[in-house]
Parts: sequence; structure tokens; C-alpha cells
Amino acid sequence: MKLLLSLGLFLGFTIADLAGSSIQPNYAGYRVLRMNYSAEVRSIIKDQSLATWEASEHTGEIDVVIPPGMTAFDDLTNHVMRHNLGRSIAREAKFNEYGTTMPNLRDFLSDLAATYLKNAEVITLGKTVKGGEITGIHIYGASGKGRPAVILFGTIHAREWISTMVPEHHAFSLLTKYDTDEEIKSWVDKYDFYIFPVTNPDGFTFTQNGNRLWRKNRQVNKGQTCLGRDLNRNWDISWNSADGASSKACTDTYKGDGASDAPETKILALFTTKVGRSPGGLQLFIDYHSYAQMVMTPYGYSCTKLAANNDILQSLADGAVNAIRSVSGTVYAGGSICKKYGKVIGDTVDYVHDVSKSKHTFTIELRDKGRYGFVLPPDQILPTATEDFAGLKYLLRTMR
Ligand SMILES: [Zn+2]
Repeated sequence: MKLLLSLGLFLGFTIADLAGSSIQPNYAGYRVLRMNYSAEVRSIIKDQSLATWEASEHTGEIDVVIPPGMTAFDDLTNHVMRHNLGRSIAREAKFNEYGTTMPNLRDFLSDLAATYLKNAEVITLGKTVKGGEITGIHIYGASGKGRPAVILFGTIHAREWISTMVPEHHAFSLLTKYDTDEEIKSWVDKYDFYIFPVTNPDGFTFTQNGNRLWRKNRQVNKGQTCLGRDLNRNWDISWNSADGASSKACTDTYKGDGASDAPETKILALFTTKVGRSPGGLQLFIDYHSYAQMVMTPYGYSCTKLAANNDILQSLADGAVNAIRSVSGTVYAGGSICKKYGKVIGDTVDYVHDVSKSKHTFTIELRDKGRYGFVLPPDQILPTATEDFAGLKYLLRTMR
């Protein structure tokens, strides 16, 4: 079924179709319901002058746009495609602005999963310091779940907003292109993708209602006035090392009182390790950050120790850098975290590589190189996501 061939078709059809009717144009509260295209359904659609989406001849179903409050179809509905059409349009049309909040990230992922229900489900890992959930989407192919895994994490550092948008874009692209792009279909059929655009929900929310440049989680530090642990210095990997993180609660790189003593770290570590030790294993892990334009490999905790498959990782990083540059000339650099950035302990990628047993493991620092820094202009969201998607494609195409 190819109901939504592309976002362009989706928006073009819907807006063009509704524009001529008396329906209000923002579609807030409108639902899209899929039902059998029966005589009864036909007659209600005609009587009420309802807008319809593409029908599927194959299944004999049709998707109908339902105004708020209309219940005529409730008993005839096979599946709710969109819970709130206005919200979906507002979100999906806009990889050109930073629109994500935690509630609408959940809505966005729910709408995606509802639209592509054979290929996706929303997954949640909980609870954060503030009782919230870390929400992601699990994407899988025709043969179902349980293949080797690809995990993408974003926004473990709260202020790095571009790292929210890039994994959102990738989830959206994998699903919306599944029916039309053979290469993407082959990857979705081959791997289970687990995509978490925001792994630090409390911190991310605080960047919207408190301090835009907040980095850490929002945990109380015993006996300290300053809040928060750096969730990328808190993992149980080389945590006791004297350098590579701060022991002072008021700094941005505070590693916590003990390894993995932030609930978010604990939750994420359990998840990556569960996936890594599943029969299919963890084939690829990427932790998105900004900014610096780098594709980095383990390790952060040592500049001399090399991953057992270091040659492969460096070659993949170099290839991804080339793929990214080929889109519009943006220059990223490749290399190990310790050599490119400096010594870092308790970091996500080292743990996921060593303990969760990810085969191919990268930290990608997205645009830019400091001109705008964490406050990357919205008109760079789509270019950043598009070129990074080329890098991801290179990795998926090349990994063995
Ligand atoms: Zn970061």
C-alpha cells in the first residue's frame, strides 16, 4: 500500500483537497481514519462532502479526513491513521524550524507509527529524574522484528537541538521512503532501527522553559546547590579515572557521585546492552551531538588504546565524512574521540562499544564549527540532516 508516497504528495493532496471546502485550514483536531470502502461509507462521504485520501484498490480501503466531533465513522473504522491532522502537518512539514517539545515528539512518533503501522512502533524507556519517559521509535521491515539493530541517539546534551532534528529526520525518511526507495527498503528489511531523538528529556525541556544553553540532566546533587549530571560522563566506563570529566557539581561536565547514578544513564545502558546481547546484536550505534562537524570513533577514555576493529571503524568514519561532503561540500573530520576532542571518561559511545558490544560505534558532532554553535539557524536543519543521511547511508551500505 502506498498511501503516502511522499510528504509532498501527502501535503499537496490534502491541502489542495481541503482548500476548496468550508473546512478551517489548520486541521486542528481533524482525524484521518482508514475504513473499508463500502456503500455505507461511500454514502456518508458524499452526504458530508468529506475529503478523502488515496484509496487502496488492493485492500478496498479508503482514508477519510474527519472533522472534530464527527462520530459517524467510529464503528466503521479499521485504523486511525492520524489522531490530529493539523498537528501532523505542523510537525512533519517543518524540518525548517525547531518545533520539537517532549509532548509533540511523542505525538510525532505516534503519528508516524500509526501511519506505518506495519513497520513501526513507539517505544518508551522510563523514568527520568522528573518522571518522564525517554521516547523513541522502533522501525522494522517486512519480515518483522528481531534483526540486527541500528540505534541512533540524539540530545543527550540538552542544548544541542540539531541533534534532536537529525534523528527525527532519519526516522521520517526511513518510513516515508520505505515503499519507494529500494535501498532504504533493503536496510529497513535487514535491520531493526531504534531511534531516540531526545535521550535527555528533562534537560531538553529545561532548554525550552528555563535556560536555552543547559547541557546536563536535572538531577539534584546531594549537598550542592547546582543541579544536573553530564549524561555523557556518567556511564560506567573508565568512570573512576582522575581526568576526562569533572567532579564538581556546578560544572557542565560533572560526572556524578557514582558511575551510572543518573536514572537516564542507567535506563539507556540497560537498553543498549539488552539490544547488544540480543541474537541479532547491535550492528551500528550513533550518538548525535553538536557542534564541531566530526565523525568520531572510540575511545574517549584513552588516546592509545584502539578498538579491536579500529581499522574498519576509521575507514567507515572516513567514508562517512566523504559522503557528507559530497552533498553540499560541508567538511567533517574523522578520528577517535580522544585524539579529535580530548580525553573523555564515562561517555556513551565507549560504554556502548565495550560493554553493550556494538560492532560499529560513532559519535557524530553535527554542524556547525562554532559560528552559530548550539543555536544553529533553522535554515540549516534540513541541509544538516540531508548530508548526515548521506553519511548514514554510506555506513549502512558499507558495513559488514
Ligand atoms: Zn554533546
